[in-house]
Amino acid sequence: MTLFRLLTEGSRVLELAGSPDPKQDAQQLLLAAFHLDMVHFLMNRMTELEESSKNQASIRLYRDMIGRRKKRCPLQHILGRQEFMGMEFMVNRHVLIPRQDTETLVEKVLVHQEKEKKKGQALLDLCTGSGCIAVSLAAKGGFDRVTGTDISEEALKVARRNGEILLSEWKKTGMIEFFQGDLFDALPKNGEKYDVITSNPPYIPTGVIQTLEPEVRDFEPQAALDGDEDGLYFYKKIGERAADYLKPKGSLYLEIGYDQKRAVCRILEDQGYKEIQVYKDLPGHDRVIMARQRD
Ligand code: GLN
Repeated sequence: MTLFRLLTEGSRVLELAGSPDPKQDAQQLLLAAFHLDMVHFLMNRMTELEESSKNQASIRLYRDMIGRRKKRCPLQHILGRQEFMGMEFMVNRHVLIPRQDTETLVEKVLVHQEKEKKKGQALLDLCTGSGCIAVSLAAKGGFDRVTGTDISEEALKVARRNGEILLSEWKKTGMIEFFQGDLFDALPKNGEKYDVITSNPPYIPTGVIQTLEPEVRDFEPQAALDGDEDGLYFYKKIGERAADYLKPKGSLYLEIGYDQKRAVCRILEDQGYKEIQVYKDLPGHDRVIMARQRD
């Protein structure tokens, strides 16, 4: 048996099952099962594999991984990780897999901070999930304190672990805290206010969830996707209360669905927020709304 033969075998299984990226996925799974990087794979792919028990175990693991992917389990769940803002986040079935679209939100916060040149700010991230927004902004932004909240304790286990592992590199583990509970109710009642509040809340209308890709529909947490009948439940809730938690001139950054710009702008305008701006993601969809604290 060779690595190349295993790759062909796995790609074929996925291709026949109608998997969207059979070759790419099989390759990533093969590298993971054999703990190989691309260079070693390319150098050794035609070499006959030794009949060692280690190789046998890797082959079994690889075939098992291909079997899971064939059933449309997301690649990220099988590998247990997803890259976001150049950092490797641990993920599992309890959190939404970080999306590239959400990097737009993080980048906007960083650019605006850079312009304002304000150091030592406090950030609150609601519906934090894997902690990808909170942890990447803790690592790269000029924040002194970062707080994340989520209704799911299981999600917070992932967020805390990501915080510990990823922020230790930056010696910043002490600056981040996570609290379990419903949006702002999770926070300690200490009157703390924030310079920036971020959130990528669940925003898919309930009826649309069934039409999503099987990877999302069948494997990602419904609670991280479902924004109620109109998809807008969390924008209304956050809009109602964010003003009580923002400092004067503080800003709110929300990720939105590609067709929710008008509805969410209206919610925030009605609540009296100011300077509302909408930003597009890389594919060109409206993706992030920024609003300033009302007077
Ligand atoms: N962007 C995600 C998707 O495409 C949804 C994320 C969310 O509801 N916050 O499935």
